[in-house]
Amino acid sequence: MHPSDPVTRRTIIKAGVALIASTAAPAFAYPRQNYRSVEAIRSLHLHNIHTGESIKTVYWEKGSYNTEAIKDIAYILRDYRTNDMYDIEPRLLDVISHMHRLLGSHKPYEVISGYRSPRTNEMLYEHSKGVNPNSLHMYGKAIDVRLNDRGLSSLRHTAMAMRQGGVGYYPASGFVHIDVGPVKHW
Ligand SMILES: [Zn+2]
Repeated sequence: MHPSDPVTRRTIIKAGVALIASTAAPAFAYPRQNYRSVEAIRSLHLHNIHTGESIKTVYWEKGSYNTEAIKDIAYILRDYRTNDMYDIEPRLLDVISHMHRLLGSHKPYEVISGYRSPRTNEMLYEHSKGVNPNSLHMYGKAIDVRLNDRGLSSLRHTAMAMRQGGVGYYPASGFVHIDVGPVKHW
């Protein structure tokens, strides 16, 4: 993956089949609702506000994750300060993809922060309030986002109702933090 690779060329591929019969065990289970049962594909449209880069891609179809697509997403979510890349947790992608569907948004996620290298996190910890020294951003398990056609509090409440991890509300900074750590909110 390198900067000149036109990741933006990826487009949503409509699944040829609406239902895919699968006997495979789910990669993970949502505890409260089986969101997965209605899906033929899982896709994401992300726009990194710091780099101006976007990606629109199907990262799961026919019962499995597309590792190339997930790598492309990880590239967009890299630490823009240091250019460090890190594997993104697929379950985090599932959570925000479902959340987008539940919210009925037609806009890409605006990404304020994806992966943070330990160096960047330490710098942020020293200079700003509310930064966890052991942030899940350092493990590819957290993302800070907003949607331009939905209110921040809608994102917050939808994420909290899904109960898939941590949800942080930062209205002054204009984003919601979503992670796949323990279920909690602040
Ligand atoms: Zn965050």
